[in-house]
Amino acid sequence: MEDKIQTATSGFSQGCDDTVETFFHSTRSCAESVTGKFAIRTGIAPDGGLYIRDDLADKPLDLAKVCGQSFQETALEVLGTLFEDFTAEEISSCVSAAYGPSFDDARITPIRQLGRDWMLELFHGPTCAFKDVALQILPHLMNCAREKDSDRILVLTATSGDTGKAALEGFADVDNIGICVFYPYGKVSDVQELQMVCQEGSNVGVCAVRGTFDDAQTGVKRIFTDAGLVARFAEQGISLSSANSINIGRLAPQITYYFDAYAQLVRAGAIALGDEVEFVVPTGNFGDVLAGYYAKLLGLPVGRLVVASNANNVLTDFITTGTYDRIRPFEKTISPSMDILVSSNLERLLYHLSGDADYVAGLMDELATTGSYTVSDELLSKIQELFGCGFATDAQCAEAIRYTFERTGVLIDPHTAVGKYIMDDMRPSGMARVLLSTASPFKFPADCLAALGACTEGLDGFSSMDELARIAETSAPAALSRLRTMPRLHDDVCDIDAMPGFVGVFAGEVFT
Ligand SMILES: *Cc1c(COP(=O)(O)O)cnc(C)c1O
Repeated sequence: MEDKIQTATSGFSQGCDDTVETFFHSTRSCAESVTGKFAIRTGIAPDGGLYIRDDLADKPLDLAKVCGQSFQETALEVLGTLFEDFTAEEISSCVSAAYGPSFDDARITPIRQLGRDWMLELFHGPTCAFKDVALQILPHLMNCAREKDSDRILVLTATSGDTGKAALEGFADVDNIGICVFYPYGKVSDVQELQMVCQEGSNVGVCAVRGTFDDAQTGVKRIFTDAGLVARFAEQGISLSSANSINIGRLAPQITYYFDAYAQLVRAGAIALGDEVEFVVPTGNFGDVLAGYYAKLLGLPVGRLVVASNANNVLTDFITTGTYDRIRPFEKTISPSMDILVSSNLERLLYHLSGDADYVAGLMDELATTGSYTVSDELLSKIQELFGCGFATDAQCAEAIRYTFERTGVLIDPHTAVGKYIMDDMRPSGMARVLLSTASPFKFPADCLAALGACTEGLDGFSSMDELARIAETSAPAALSRLRTMPRLHDDVCDIDAMPGFVGVFAGEVFT
């Protein structure tokens, strides 16, 4: 009895579709189902699986209505559909807090014409990359997802550069939550470092770690599993969480822009209501492209989703052959946010298309022990029906930046350029095609300049930005150029072993 009460209040129930409120279960088991709030608060299921819900295809959005709505109105509908345990007021306050003046375009994710195709600009948020669309709202969802008003959440993140800044910017000054980011000392770009060390906010901590990104990541994982520290925090009503992209609260907000892009195309007269649209998605962790699949399940007429990879083409091989093999050299590319060999969110797709949690658990076990797995022919053909794929090398990506600028006057970043190259290399389907543009070129000014054939010698981050702006006859986003004059607020550097100590002191300062 005691047990039952315990599990009920923490958001668990038994079975897959037992109660009204608990829709989410692990990709690796149907034994327990949890609320949306529980899934967002904890991030990952106890068995290592990712939280998913089975019934998205039964809950289509009204497409005609979506076409008359703003981005924010569609966000209310998407999030209200996925997270039914949130009240309408909660969802509404999260959406208002997230999608306002922190974006430099009132449309939030505007589309623009790109030759015969379209480009969806996802980089108008405060850190100039698409992760803002999710990380501007996740902190507010997490705040609502707290079990008790007295609960506090401490978010810990190790970053190789981009995610940390987007998390800092999203969590800054959100009530009841603290955010602490660790990055490898001397191993992020000048601009990336400035973005983090100049971060303002009463609840933010930033610390450089002597070591690599992997060391910082290991340090964070050690804190999560340090029973003594976790118990000490629990006594103070503090729980630890992460802003990692496997959290369903990061995935769900991305569904909105697929619907909103479609609405913009209809309003522009580019397509008629009901026409199918193809999306080309620069991919790393498979989060962004999975959100496109979720949009399709929710009734969006999506033709094909194209998975665009860089030289780390593990997904191209998988979609072509059915074998996922992470044992291969790691390539450092000019699209670093896509330098990933284990695409975590692919696990969700494997569950949705097989409907078999035991099967998925088996595949993931194989991946962990042998480094690879092969899916059944039946599953592979389902994947191939839904997804196209391709990859571009750094040279091809640079070529796409150059010819896109020459032919259309549009400057694209190296991640977007991977998708652009693959889109141009494919036979057109006759459908309208939308390329997802995941970052501002001004985040990667040196590589963009080099791609355009300009001289980059002796230029630091800011001079590269200036030179790029001059060539493109535009200006760099204010969020990046204002870093030039901002004060450095965080100058801590520590060894891996000192990370728990840093977190302890930080928690004491933030939650007083
Ligand atoms: C994270 C990121 C991607 C990859 O997105 P996934 O959801 O991991 O597939 C692509 N481009 C940029 C600029 C990113 O920051």
